[in-house]
This record gives sequence, structure tokens and C-alpha cells, in this order.
Amino acid sequence: MFLIECPWCGPRDESEFDCGGEAHIERPADPAELSDEAWADYLFMRTNPKGRHRERWVHACGCRRWFNIERDTVSHRITAVYRMGRKPPGRR
Ligand SMILES: [Zn+2]
Repeated sequence: MFLIECPWCGPRDESEFDCGGEAHIERPADPAELSDEAWADYLFMRTNPKGRHRERWVHACGCRRWFNIERDTVSHRITAVYRMGRKPPGRR
């Protein structure tokens, strides 16, 4: 268990949230132009780092809004919380 700082509601228990997987996965502009392998890669292949990872989360038992988190997958320490559509910290 750990606390997550919802950008709208403040700190809440992790049990109020659902993880939506890796953040910043962009849908290909023209999926019909992709090979089956490239499409499968977009749909199913995700990084699984040991350490810093950026993820989408939703406050399912609260405001029901989505946002991004940068979290260490080993310690669960959250180093950044930022709204959808915004760039992660350290990126321009
Ligand atoms: Zn919330």
C-alpha cells in the first residue's frame, strides 16, 4: 500500500486507484499502413523496467479522472504526478 497524490483530490490510498499501464504510448497515425507485427507491437508490447516508470492511473473511487505518475517499480516511490496531456518532468 502506498499513497497517491491525485492532482484534483490530494493524497489518497492506492486502493482507490487503478493502474492503466504505461504512459505516453501514442496510437499510430495510420494503423492501416502498419504491418501486423508493428500493430501487435503497438497493442501489446510494453516496457517493464526495474526502476523509474511512467504510468497512467485513474482515481476510480474518487473523481474518476486519469493522470500520469512517475514511479519507481522497486520502491514504489512516486517522483512525479502530472495531468494527462502534459509532458513528464525533465522532458521538453
Ligand atoms: Zn481524484
